[in-house]
Amino acid sequence: MDHSSKQDVTDTWKLVDKVLSLVRPFGAITVLFGIISLAGYFGSIEGLYRPIDNGPATHPLTALIIVLLGFSLYKNVQTPLEIKQRHLFAFLAFIFTVIRLTDVVYQSDFSQYITPFLSDVLRELQTGKSNYMGGNTALMLLFISSSIVAYNFKKYVFSQMIATIAVSMPLITILGYTYGLTKFYGQMSLFTATAGFALSVATVALTADKGLVHALLSPHIGGKVARFQFVTGYIFPVVIGYFIVKLTVAPQGSLFGVFVVGVCWFIMIMVGISALVVEKVDHKRRLDEEKLHQAATTDSLTGLFNRRVFFDAANHEMARLKRSGTSLSVLMLDVDFFKKINDKAGHAMGDQVLIQLSQVLNSSLREVDIIARVGGEEFAIILPDTSQEGAQRVAENLRRNVEKIVVANWTPIYGPVTISIGVAMVETNTQQTFDEILANADKALYQSKANGRNQVSLYQIDGC
Ligand code: GH3
Ligand code: MG
Ligand code: MG
Repeated sequence: MDHSSKQDVTDTWKLVDKVLSLVRPFGAITVLFGIISLAGYFGSIEGLYRPIDNGPATHPLTALIIVLLGFSLYKNVQTPLEIKQRHLFAFLAFIFTVIRLTDVVYQSDFSQYITPFLSDVLRELQTGKSNYMGGNTALMLLFISSSIVAYNFKKYVFSQMIATIAVSMPLITILGYTYGLTKFYGQMSLFTATAGFALSVATVALTADKGLVHALLSPHIGGKVARFQFVTGYIFPVVIGYFIVKLTVAPQGSLFGVFVVGVCWFIMIMVGISALVVEKVDHKRRLDEEKLHQAATTDSLTGLFNRRVFFDAANHEMARLKRSGTSLSVLMLDVDFFKKINDKAGHAMGDQVLIQLSQVLNSSLREVDIIARVGGEEFAIILPDTSQEGAQRVAENLRRNVEKIVVANWTPIYGPVTISIGVAMVETNTQQTFDEILANADKALYQSKANGRNQVSLYQIDGC
């Protein structure tokens, strides 16, 4: 049985682990997306980089950056070389996006030097087709690449912040497609938006064990409420927005989608912040509750269960005994001449003996056995599903193990550390109460003491 009783504190944050485990597959998916687009250029299969006829295409430079970022997320980061590669991929992607953004802002043309399949792009542009890496795509990729770079430099809060902004950008485009606001998705192809979405989600997932995202994924009440708010806070504005677009005449190219996603994003950040605060407060409350629980159920010196828990557990075991059709044994233990130990070695040394003794009891017994400190140097043990012979063997084993206890700074003048044990056993059809059984074990213990101590005695129905 676990006497440390830390159940709440060690609760597993399964969702955090799940989200963290999304990073690599999402990275792989985006690599695939990028490679498919590049393959489209390589094999002149337009459909691979332009999902909608005459719609926006995934520019080859966009595809290249997506591949780099996907790889940097997919990379294992066990060895120093792998870590360097991850840094390099993310950094290259960052530089490429900065070059492209410079072009967008200053209308320069530097990015053509780093664009693969440039001749195909130029040919398409001449024939009047759209093939740009637009400002919104460049901005999204800048946010994602800086987030990964920041993560690599252990700037986790910043990394998470810009990754969440990055998620909203492909969402705006996807919403534009959903609402049918064509101008609105502008030059970002549905391919780019989907890959960008997977990339940005994976980037957020990188810091799932930190900050707002961590709080949102909490297995506790704050996290549960926040997740509900998170989902409804997204669905509500999107659905209302959809009806507004469909029922009224929304002007083409309006910023309506930006407004809707902006509202969603704002709600989610607010939900995230309150989840963080709630989680902090709740964490402290859980720790306090845990301490109280510990104080109420265990003995502070040895960490073993106290009398109250022992009797609760005993009732439970007695009820189980009736159903199980087996037998149950109870041991009573008492340290021999403990008063002398205290007198000669001092109270502190006496305490040490009790601590060591409880460790020996713990390590010598099974998980299902229930051990409690029921008095000063008296211990009681319930052995479920254990016959008299079994209990006697266990008791003998305990007695021998206690004899071997080595206490620091112990000298032979203090005498040996030994225990006397009394064993009582009951069958499934017993009419006895637990108090009676315990009293029987106590009688057997008294017998051990009377017979010279450091021994095990059995309680027999016809007297000891
Ligand atoms: P016996 O072999 O007959 O059991 O002899 P004993 O000296 O162990 O008997 P007794 O029950 O009279 O002595 C128990 C002593 O245990 C008395 C008390 O001072 C001491 N004691 C009780 N609780 C603690 C504790 O938490 N720490 C220490 N150091 N001593 C304790
Ligand atoms: Mg004693
Ligand atoms: Mg005693």
